[in-house]
Parts: sequence; structure tokens; C-alpha cells
Amino acid sequence: MTPPEPVTDRAPVTHRVPVSVAVIGAGVSGLCMGLKLKAAGIEDFVLYDKAEDVGGVWRDNTYPGLSCDIPSRTYCYSFAPNPEWNALFSTGPEILRYLQRTATDHGLRPHLRTGTHITRATFTDGRWTLETSTGETRAFDFLLCATGLLVHPTVPDLPGADTFRGRAFHSARWDHTVQTTGQKIAIVGTGSTGVQLTCALTPHAGRLMLFQRTPQWVLPKPNKRISALAKAVHRRRPALARLTDPLWRLAFETTISKAAVTPGWQRTLLTYACRIALLRIRSTGLRRRMTPDHPPLCKRLVVASGFHRAVQQPHVDVISTPIARITPRGLLTTDGHEHEADLIVWATGFQADAYMRPLHITGPHGRTLDDAWARGPRSYNTVALPGFPNLFLLVGPNSPFSGEAVIRTAETQADYILQWIDLFARGVISRTTPTREATDAFNAAIATALPNTAFTGGCSSWYQDQNGTPLVWPWPVHTHRTLLSRIHHPDFHTLPGPAATHGPSALAGGDPA
Ligand code: NAP
Repeated sequence: MTPPEPVTDRAPVTHRVPVSVAVIGAGVSGLCMGLKLKAAGIEDFVLYDKAEDVGGVWRDNTYPGLSCDIPSRTYCYSFAPNPEWNALFSTGPEILRYLQRTATDHGLRPHLRTGTHITRATFTDGRWTLETSTGETRAFDFLLCATGLLVHPTVPDLPGADTFRGRAFHSARWDHTVQTTGQKIAIVGTGSTGVQLTCALTPHAGRLMLFQRTPQWVLPKPNKRISALAKAVHRRRPALARLTDPLWRLAFETTISKAAVTPGWQRTLLTYACRIALLRIRSTGLRRRMTPDHPPLCKRLVVASGFHRAVQQPHVDVISTPIARITPRGLLTTDGHEHEADLIVWATGFQADAYMRPLHITGPHGRTLDDAWARGPRSYNTVALPGFPNLFLLVGPNSPFSGEAVIRTAETQADYILQWIDLFARGVISRTTPTREATDAFNAAIATALPNTAFTGGCSSWYQDQNGTPLVWPWPVHTHRTLLSRIHHPDFHTLPGPAATHGPSALAGGDPA
């Protein structure tokens, strides 16, 4: 197919077309988009969230021990450095406070529509009409989906679950009325959440049972506190953060994130570090049971301190026999043993490949997102979808969510999306959607690169879609930034805007999807 003639962007900057933008989701990526829109002088945008405040996963997860496994210095927006971090790795509440404060300080609050659940988005008459659960509608020129990844909790459907006489909930729905001190606590799941919970609850629990289906690699983290003096210096000299924060990022990107995507010394070193960490388990029987049969980084690496010490406490048991059913008194394993519990915490993860769903998205010609993703979620360069004009994704399929802090990925994507919004506002384009060919080429390149990565090392993980394909960025993360640094016009069908200097382009009356 001959690519459409690129739309020229030489329209006079003074010719401004009003542009309205809907952002769905006020978590890390939605806030980032809102902050960027604001900084670009675009005022007609609404940031929707179904919850009552901003923060996304950092608002929803309030379980004991919640903390970030990425160094704090790289877990803030580049335009809003935070001199107040208390430790090398921050706690969940601290990150939430940072996000809330940033939203307030940067004037985002008037754009927020919290407590508003968008149920439907339909492309009609060249615009996206959004419908809320209360039946309100409003049309926008752009629809930006920042709906997050780790949003929909998964709880195993075990027989007898409704007979349990104690308390049971998912880690992302922590019930703070529950007393944990002295209780018999069952934690199901050994991902980052299960491990953090184990570390936090072990000192107070009467008995702690960790149900492990698959062992995970756990790398200890040195969580040094940041001194008052260091904070004061950062507060007074913001330029220092601008200088040092990129160094933190570089250190992360050249080690752990490189190890995930390229075989080499970083991967070898990390493998040794994980194996050495396991030696902290003195009992050879327990160590054997807790040794993964997949390589490190195949699943998301768990970074936590004190885990191996916790599982060796006399009142802690790691139970690797599968759970057969839930009984009124606890959990029955397939060996016939009933494990009595007062509290069951499902640290069983999320349905990450749902992305924007269950939001119903319908593009031109009645084509739905479910149709488009029938064989699994696929994107154009992580940010757009063929057949869905003026719709962009933040932290969509294949975003580099293991190679860098999601906060940075969101910045890269928001900057890219802004380029399109700018072309619209200058009257250069009125509609844009990536071509199917460009989207297929991107996904073919991913399929070729994946076998080099650690993600295809024979494990199952939340990185994977329904077919077991990891929806990850399979290259060093800097290539994502390079790819999205500018628009590659031949990859798009576009309709010209009122100030474009040539006639109509390929996209007429909707994408030829
Ligand atoms: P996860 O990594 O998906 O782990 C879920 C755990 O539940 C796994 O151990 C899984 O076992 C187990 N599981 C699932 N269904 C089960 C069943 N039916 N029976 C027994 N076990 C079952 O979820 P997560 O721990 O909530 O973490 C998700 C992600 O959130 C992390 O990878 C991380 O990116 C993020 N997170 C980050 C932080 C942070 O520090 N920034 C903190 C918490 C979470 P299998 O391995 O056998 O499937």
C-alpha cells in the first residue's frame, strides 16, 4: 500500500482550532497527561476517574508494607522532582501524597471529574462521545485512555469460598477494620504483593501461612533512609535533582532493565545475585521448595528486604501444596490438610491485559475494541490503535513497564500524544489513526525480539495476554523514547484540518479499518 501523503505541519501557529480532550484515569499516567496538557496551554480537558481521588494503584492499594520497588529518585515526574522522599525506595502512602500534591500544585484539580465512571465511548460525527454510568454524555476531539494495568483484581474461584467464617479480601481492597495482630493469616500468592505483605505482617501475626503456587526470585533491596540534611539540600537546590535523577535512571536502565531484554553480563550478574539471596534460607528443604524453575526476570522480579528472614520464623509456614477448597475454618490443601485461618488475603494479582475494558469503545463503522482485540491486545508503537481515530493510550500494550518507572513511560507517551493534539490545534489535521500495516510491522518486530528477552523463559506472568504472549517492550527502554520522540507520518491515515496546506488525505469518513 502507498502511504498517504504526509500532512504538512507548516500551518501558521496563530491559527488555533479549539480542541477538547478527555483523559480516562487519574493515576500516574492520566495525571501525567493532564499535567502536560496544562503545561501546553490546553485548558479544555477533563480528567475522569471512577474513584474519589487521584492516584490509581497507589490510591487503591493500601495494604501493610506497600512500597515501591523502583528507586524514589526515578519515581517522580521529570518536571516535578520531589525533595521530600524519605527513603531510597518509597512507601505507597508517600507516593500517593506526592501524586495528590502534584495534582494540586499544578492546577489540575479544576479539570478532575472524580467519582465518574465512564462506561461507553463511541466515535460519532468525528468526535468521541463519552457516556457515564449515570447516563450523562459529552463529546471530545481526543480520547486518551490512561486506565492503568493493575486495576482489576483476580481472586481464584475456589469451591467453598462463601462458607469461610473469617475475613477474606484481595490485597488491593484492604479492609482496615481487620485486626491482624495475633491472628492466623493466610496469604495466597508470592508476587511483589504477597512478599511485601509477608514481610509486614510476620512480626505481628500469631501464625502466618504463605501459599506459594510458583516460587519467585526475590532480590533484597537496601532501603536507606534519606537524611533531613539531604532533603534540605534537594529542597534548596532543585537543580541538583535535575542533575542526579537522570543518573539514577541511567543506573537502573543499564543494569536491571538491560538484563531483562538482552542476554549479557547484567543478566548473569542478576542471576547470581538472586541465587546468593536464596542462600539466606538455611533449611535445604525449604530452599529447594522456594527455588524457581524459571530464570530471574521472566516474571516481574520481586525486590524486597527481609523476606527470606520472615519465612524462616517459627510461626511462618510456606505451603506449596495446591489449595483444593476453602472451608468454614480455613484452606484445605490437596494433601487433605486443613489450614485454619482468621484472615485470607488474596495476593493473587490482577487481570493486566484488560487495559481499558470493561469500558465499551466503539470506533467508526461500529467496530468495537473487543473486535479489534479478539486475538489479544495489540497497539501501534504502544500508543495508538488502527481503526480508532484520535484515540491514544498511555501504558498500553507493550509499554516498557518492566524497564523503567511507569511514571517515565507515561511522560514519553504523553509528549508523543501532545504532538498530535498540537497538530489538531493548529488546524493541520482533524483526524488521525495508525495504518494497519504499520501496526502489524511493529508487532512483527516485537515477536522477533521477544525470544531474546527473559520474559519468554518458560514462566507464566501478568505480562502475558490470554495466549501467553508477553505484552512487554522487548528492547532497551531508550529505544521507546526514541521511537516516540517524533511522529512518523507515513504510518498514519489522517484527515486534514482547516489550516492544512493540501487537499484531503487518506482518511475519509473514518478509518478504512
Ligand atoms: P502477581 O505478581 O501477578 O502475583 C500473583 C501471585 O498470586 C503469584 O504468586 C501467583 O502464582 C499467585 N496466584 C494467582 N492465582 C493463584 C491461585 N489460583 N492459587 C494460588 N496462587 C495464585 O501479583 P502482585 O503480587 O499483586 O503484583 C503485581 C505487580 O504489581 C507486580 O509484579 C509489580 O509490578 C506490582 N507491584 C509493585 C509493587 C511495587 O513495589 N512497586 C508492589 C506490589 C505490586 P503464579 O506465579 O503461580 O501465577
